[in-house]
Amino acid sequence: MARMNADKQELLDGIERDKEMLVDFFSKFVAAPTPNPPGDTRKGVAHIVRFLEAKKLPFRLVDPDPLQANVVGTVEGAAPGKHLVLNGHIDVFPVVENDARWTHGPWSGEVTDGKVYGRGACDMKAGTTASIMTYYYLNRIKAKWKGKLTLTCVSDEETFGPMGARYLMDHVPEVLGDCLLNGEPSSPYSIRFGEKGPFWVAFTVKTRGGHGAYPHTSENAAKIASRFIADLDSLSNIKADMPDNVARALAAAKDTMDRAMGQGAAELVPKVTVNVGVVSGGLKVNMIADIVRIEADIRLPVGVTHDMVVAEIGKILMRYPQIAMEEMNFSPPSWCDPYGEMVEHLQDNVDHLRGFKPTPIVSLGGTDARLWRYKNIPAYVYGPPPSGMGSFDEHVEIDNFFHVVRSHVLSAYDYLSRGR
Ligand SMILES: [Zn+2]
Repeated sequence: MARMNADKQELLDGIERDKEMLVDFFSKFVAAPTPNPPGDTRKGVAHIVRFLEAKKLPFRLVDPDPLQANVVGTVEGAAPGKHLVLNGHIDVFPVVENDARWTHGPWSGEVTDGKVYGRGACDMKAGTTASIMTYYYLNRIKAKWKGKLTLTCVSDEETFGPMGARYLMDHVPEVLGDCLLNGEPSSPYSIRFGEKGPFWVAFTVKTRGGHGAYPHTSENAAKIASRFIADLDSLSNIKADMPDNVARALAAAKDTMDRAMGQGAAELVPKVTVNVGVVSGGLKVNMIADIVRIEADIRLPVGVTHDMVVAEIGKILMRYPQIAMEEMNFSPPSWCDPYGEMVEHLQDNVDHLRGFKPTPIVSLGGTDARLWRYKNIPAYVYGPPPSGMGSFDEHVEIDNFFHVVRSHVLSAYDYLSRGR
């Protein structure tokens, strides 16, 4: 294997020397509880601030809500050039109190058997640590590259909140840049260049209701709801009008998508899916249910628009005059060039580090990277495997953590040191 250039070798040597410091930072970051909801991330922000101050790195807090501040900093290279932005979130999913299934406490950050345990380890304090360390290592050799590097650590991602990356987009234009790199959980084998768009819709079924012994006197809202829910499955027949390069990338990535997101994932990436997450209604067992509320999480693939889905739902609703629809939340699907420059850098560096090239894919779940793609800025996600994500015993293997740190540091250097 070809030897790395001297700057890159120096970066790798620095990471090697600092291994203990890196694991210590990551573990204590996990041990700083930042569950959202409620969304108070002060302990996580303080941990980052202590590091940036100790290393004399420039940063400022952007805190429309002081309980959930965002950390933003920029360093400049030796000459004008491209602008790379790093992004990660500080907030994490909540945990169930006293959940005995956790073998290591959710806020322990325990380092054991080559793993770091705790809520947020993979989603996404490993990736956010990679962003912070990329900022640190690139700053140390800033005379060796061109352009700008901006770090953004946000506090309001898990609940689609308005105080995090969305706030930065609207109020801090320096976070836009020419390219975004993010370490949300993915897998070593895939680079995410796009993601499906969530469309949350509530349906209310209303009937007259009545006594359960007299079912001939009123329609039953629960029965109508069950037929309607089954009919929603037809949304998966909507044909996606996908750009050629995205279709080509997905065709080449079937095995990788199944491997990264579970068997069967590849088939769902280009389709509309419907998850009915909440059904509630009815008052008593011997009454005819008169009101039922259904909440559906519809996911749009690249090439399917909000209007296409609403039109299809409209056709179904023609058969159900008892049902009213209300839109709760929508983010369009997002994508960028599957074969962009950052993809090449990540592929080359991972090939050097691990001996394989990760494949560009579209993910089922969502990240803040979409916000940059909406602004036509290419945005890529490369992070650790989602071990225990959103469940108990969430963890990251230390080898995978270092792999993400090395891949981000080297690829950021390549992006900022090579002209295009
Ligand atoms: Zn996340």
